Amino acid sequence: MASDPYGWLATSLQTIHRAHWHRAVQPLEGLPGPVMVGQGQPLVNFASNDYLGLAGDPRLRAAAIAAVQQYGTGSTGSRLLSGHRPLHRQLETALANLKGTADAIVFSSGYLANIGTITALVGQRDLILSDQYNHASLINGAKLSGATVFDYRHSDTQHLLEQLTQHREQYRRCLILTDSVFSMDGDLCPLPAILALAEQFEAMVLVDEAHGTGVLGRTGAGGVEHLGCRGRPLVQMGTLSKALGSLGGYVAGSAELIDFLRNRASSWIYTTGLTPAATAAACQAIEIVQSEPDRRDRLQEHICTLTAGLDALLAHPSPHRPFGKRFPSDSPILCIEVTNAATVMALKQRLMAQGLFLSAVRPPTVPTSRLRITLMATHTPEHLEKILGELGKIAAGAR
Ligand SMILES: *Cc1c(COP(=O)(O)O)cnc(C)c1O
Repeated sequence: MASDPYGWLATSLQTIHRAHWHRAVQPLEGLPGPVMVGQGQPLVNFASNDYLGLAGDPRLRAAAIAAVQQYGTGSTGSRLLSGHRPLHRQLETALANLKGTADAIVFSSGYLANIGTITALVGQRDLILSDQYNHASLINGAKLSGATVFDYRHSDTQHLLEQLTQHREQYRRCLILTDSVFSMDGDLCPLPAILALAEQFEAMVLVDEAHGTGVLGRTGAGGVEHLGCRGRPLVQMGTLSKALGSLGGYVAGSAELIDFLRNRASSWIYTTGLTPAATAAACQAIEIVQSEPDRRDRLQEHICTLTAGLDALLAHPSPHRPFGKRFPSDSPILCIEVTNAATVMALKQRLMAQGLFLSAVRPPTVPTSRLRITLMATHTPEHLEKILGELGKIAAGAR
């Protein structure tokens, strides 16, 4: 008798549970914003990527509705066949303008933008050097490309230099991959140093601005602007689904790069064009990013307040405290180290009972468990006081 070919699924799930790695969805209701409803109660939301508070903005909702009325709900085909609308081109022009690049192309998600771009740019004869903390979409794009991949230690340009010196010559093209803002830590990549090495070793650089776009830089263009690298030869990708409050991904760069991707990026060619609603909402978001810099200012103020508050509460060591240091950050992503996966889950539940929603991030997503707090421009000072108050009680060892 043959055994059940799906029997291993239950065994595998048991292993995941035993390690406290099991994940499940958590329903939240209401418009996206700093306060949402979950488990029947209001929760202050510290787990959203909606950094500027645009996903529920009336202007984005109105733009999406108008686009649905004019163009319908689906774009009905791939961009190269029947799925291209003037709206798509309008969005790509707006993105290129925001980024200061010659052109841009929009994908159905940031994940697909990374997969499609990396596999189009490199193949079996080529080399990829990748920061060890890069986002899963970069890691998987690298694997899928068939190129030889080496990870360099997180933000360690000395290690990157060693790898370039050792391996670059044996390969045709070389592509360096890095997040601008690291999604699970909140720190920034050393982009100027990476670009200098790239120039020296004739390497391309793809920088993932998923958490930088709209948030960093004087005009909100992202980490590249913030780090003084606007106008440098770069492949800049990002998402429309975080600070821009919509759905989709993009790549911005030279006219040749974008034209090449239109011809070679499989995850763009063989998928349906972005929906009219998502496209119009993203266009509206870019306009707001450019015309309302005060949203970025408010977000920066919140980052300063929360950072100072966390540091004060972590300053004195306590034997009863279940968490350790705060991770260095230059962004609205602030993380606190927690001893292990079981503890971080218990802390998340405890904070939820107090009306706070934040992320517990565990292996295998990250090497060490952590509480992850993300800030929004639309949080109020009271929201920040509340989270600092509750974390303070836990830090003091209160039960
Ligand atoms: C969220 C994210 C992506 C994927 O973007 P989606 O549009 O959500 O698919 C890619 N890279 C990083 C660093 C991200 O945080």
